[in-house]
Amino acid sequence: MKILRFGSRGPLVELLQLALTRAGYNPGPIDGVFGGRTLAAVQNFQRDMGLVPDGIVGPLTHRTLMPWYTGYVTHTIRRGDTLYHLALQYGSTVRAIETANPGIDPLSLSVGRIVVIPLGFDVVPTNINYSSTLIGYIVRGLSARYPFLNVGEMGRSVMGRPLYYISTGSGSNRVFYNASHHANEWITTPLLLKFLEDFAKAYVSGGNIYNIPAQDIFNASTIYIAPAVNPDGIDLVTGELDSGTYFESARALSRNYPDIPFPSGWKANIRGVDTNLQYPAGWEQARQIKFAEGFTRPGPRDYVGSGPLVAPESLAIYDFTLEIDPALILAYHTQGGVIYWKFLDYNPAGSEEIGRRLSEASGYALEETPYGSGFAGYKDWFIQDFNRPGYTIEAGRGVNPLPISQFDSIYNENIGILTLAAILTPGGPLV
Ligand SMILES: [Zn+2]
Repeated sequence: MKILRFGSRGPLVELLQLALTRAGYNPGPIDGVFGGRTLAAVQNFQRDMGLVPDGIVGPLTHRTLMPWYTGYVTHTIRRGDTLYHLALQYGSTVRAIETANPGIDPLSLSVGRIVVIPLGFDVVPTNINYSSTLIGYIVRGLSARYPFLNVGEMGRSVMGRPLYYISTGSGSNRVFYNASHHANEWITTPLLLKFLEDFAKAYVSGGNIYNIPAQDIFNASTIYIAPAVNPDGIDLVTGELDSGTYFESARALSRNYPDIPFPSGWKANIRGVDTNLQYPAGWEQARQIKFAEGFTRPGPRDYVGSGPLVAPESLAIYDFTLEIDPALILAYHTQGGVIYWKFLDYNPAGSEEIGRRLSEASGYALEETPYGSGFAGYKDWFIQDFNRPGYTIEAGRGVNPLPISQFDSIYNENIGILTLAAILTPGGPLV
């Protein structure tokens, strides 16, 4: 992680301020500006941790902050330790420790064993701007806390960032949700991650999600999530990427489109290819339409690329979809409060009915895709090649990027969609 110091700005400063707050320090408001109060909080933290209190957050301070980035610590069992005392010591609970360490016997802890201890806060923040660094910490933190989650990489972005997937459930009814094909629609990333965390919590406690027992869903379905299809683009929009070759080349590309604000109007991958105009489903039509609109070369959005699947991010999603063979997909975008369910005249069994249920659960309108954006998208290709229900969800309302302050309302609108989509599939458990 980057070195942060007085005067630094951006999403990593927000993450630092969040971590300090979680650790019990007061960096002032979480505003992404490393000012005097953040400096004092860093120095206090460093002093308490036995580090040199220079106020500069370099590799050692970052490493020491890791539990408050990822939400867990590791502890080596010593003679006399009990789960109860460990929970007290770290602000955890016995159940959380048992969940994170399957098979642990609280009555005979073996000395020297390393245990994962979840800390007393949720892993997924819903109050700060996102970055690929944060996404990596969340993936690590969730899989440490909930070992029944399966985590992996489906590929790498242009800049080599991992394209993560996480799955939960043991059932044969497979569904796939992905988010942030478009960079400045990144609020969909915490949407999927928060859903996953809430689902895992409900599963562990035997509770419900959207009034449905999580354990029933877990046993019937497997939910695959790709939380961030376009991490390079997210970093560009929120500011983790603010210098260097890739940043400069993106800025140069954006000068060809002076009416689109930079970087906030950026949707494409870091090479200026729109990752959701990359799928082999009417790609030639998409090319004609977008070229006629003036999107003839790489830029912030709507450039279809030199051919289908030239963007590694789209190719990874394509390959992963073929591999897991899902019964249904959701592709998350912002904004408008709309659910698109059609591609051309394809009409997969159950698609309209499921779409109606998702619409009722969210208050979002169920609509046919406008012609101008009706080709080469992920859901278009899925419907065409699989002939199964696929939906583009345009969450929230406003101007992209939607501010994180909209998160709670977006989450409340979409929790029903995210839950029902896992069980309403044709042949799924609740039909
Ligand atoms: Zn979009």
